[in-house]
Amino acid sequence: MSKINGATLMAQSLKQQGVQYMFGIVGFPVGPIAEAAQKVGIRYIGMRNEQSASYAAQAAGYLTGRPGACLVVSGPGVVHGLAGLANAQQNCWPMILIGGASATHQNGMGAFQEERQVQIAAPFCKFAHAVEHVHRIPFYVEMAVRNSIYGRPGATYLDMPDDIILGEIDEEKVHAAATVADPPRMQAMQEDVDKALNALESAERPLVIVGKGMGWSRAEDEVRAFIERTQLPFLASPMGKGVMDDSHPLSVGAARSHALQEADVIFLMGARLNWIMHFGLPPRFNKKVRIVQLDIAPEAISQNVPAEVALVGDGKAVVGQLNKALESRQWFYPKDTPWHAAIAQKSAANAKQIQPMIDDNSTPTNYYRAFKDISAWLPENAVIIGEGANTMDIGRTQMPNRNARLRLDAGSYGTMGIGMGFCVAAAVVHPDRPIVSVSGDSAIGFSGMEMETVCRHRLPVKIVVLNNGGIGGGIAEFPKNEPPPPRVLTIGARYDKMMEAFGGKGFYIEDPKDLRAALDAAMAFDGPALVNVRLHHAAGRKPQQFGWHTS
Ligand code: ADP
Ligand code: MG
Repeated sequence: MSKINGATLMAQSLKQQGVQYMFGIVGFPVGPIAEAAQKVGIRYIGMRNEQSASYAAQAAGYLTGRPGACLVVSGPGVVHGLAGLANAQQNCWPMILIGGASATHQNGMGAFQEERQVQIAAPFCKFAHAVEHVHRIPFYVEMAVRNSIYGRPGATYLDMPDDIILGEIDEEKVHAAATVADPPRMQAMQEDVDKALNALESAERPLVIVGKGMGWSRAEDEVRAFIERTQLPFLASPMGKGVMDDSHPLSVGAARSHALQEADVIFLMGARLNWIMHFGLPPRFNKKVRIVQLDIAPEAISQNVPAEVALVGDGKAVVGQLNKALESRQWFYPKDTPWHAAIAQKSAANAKQIQPMIDDNSTPTNYYRAFKDISAWLPENAVIIGEGANTMDIGRTQMPNRNARLRLDAGSYGTMGIGMGFCVAAAVVHPDRPIVSVSGDSAIGFSGMEMETVCRHRLPVKIVVLNNGGIGGGIAEFPKNEPPPPRVLTIGARYDKMMEAFGGKGFYIEDPKDLRAALDAAMAFDGPALVNVRLHHAAGRKPQQFGWHTS
């Protein structure tokens, strides 16, 4: 009779459930799981810190629709992986963290790296459990996968003690599990669909906010049909960018604040009125704003602002219902309204305000001048990753997304350090697309060691560091006999040389006139490359902010 061990059964179960990628760091006791994963055809990427591996797993989950796996050692490995669980929970992205654990017969004895792992993972997870029998591994993997992608997606955790990983049983004793089907697509009540359209029809200043729930539900065809049919102005959330083409004439992206403040009816599609959307409250929103809300999670409805109409269901299915209902209506939002005119006027004024910074060729450069070359260089099909404060916020407005799920950033949790993990995930999931990450110099520091990972795995990602020498900006010169101020980082630090140290290509740019050529050379290079762009230490969002922290 043939025997199977826990590691192999874990790998086979993940494979059966459509988990294609595993990111992690091996060591006691999880090494055999990584080896077994490779044997069954799961792509295993060994990384340098569990945080990055856990970020990679959830990005792979969001991009593929099946959870990514993250494999970590016991104790400290699991603790580092919590960063990813928390980020995945906040972003509603699916992942499975698999933590090694000391052997069950040593529980409570002070074993090597012993920790109460299920307990510490549970607050960040939809499902967290220890595996206590080898034959039940398929059961737990099915549970973890199903919980991660059904309903509101999120993180799950499985604890794998050493004796379960190495434990052997007769193959016929294994309790097989069913394969988790793709999530069922729930529809809203027809009555609510009609109410939603009535509310939108009654609006004077309507606005659709498209969130990453629509990206996750792969609703881009339905959302595009809905906007074309209704002609409603829309705003993309940071990672909802690309569900609708950013360059669409109905995008209010360039007049975001104005549109949010003045809209009288907002259709919230797979997005939340959390801090990113200023809670939907005054002064950033109209006090009397009426909300039509589409979300897969009923408990998300009416968060911060009561919803007038609730469409609880799957984004793709429900917008499909709306489109169907629109077939029997004549209504669409007219082109020549004061609302359209006000948004156009505000967009033009905002564009005028930043134009001088775009045109400013002085050295060291500013964000807008750098993004002028970066966005002209960006291929249309690129996955665009952004992290950092101004780097991310300005980058979001200056780097357009043409298609869904091509924008990854610090997201709902505001996590800096996701960039390298997201690069790795995007590169393995989309080997056919350019992967471009634009990081601040502080942000790249959190996970910079993963440059070794991208070089070792020959992932040809292109990283741009906008280097202002500090957290939110540095100083012109280090004080001679004083300690560096808390926010300050090394002036002109050579992150490009780090990339070179591991076999990639690095470029260092001081004068913006050299930037475009370096970007082109980086793209042409058949491997990972980093373009390190020296920025003015006080570069900011608005021209008048120059010098605000130079003293
Ligand atoms: P954003 O940052 O883009 O506003 P959030 O992560 O804040 O997005 O909100 C996304 C919302 O989308 C969450 O409330 C989540 O419950 C919801 N969501 C997730 N999956 C789906 C789906 N399949 N259909 C509709 N809504 C979804
Ligand atoms: Mg900085």
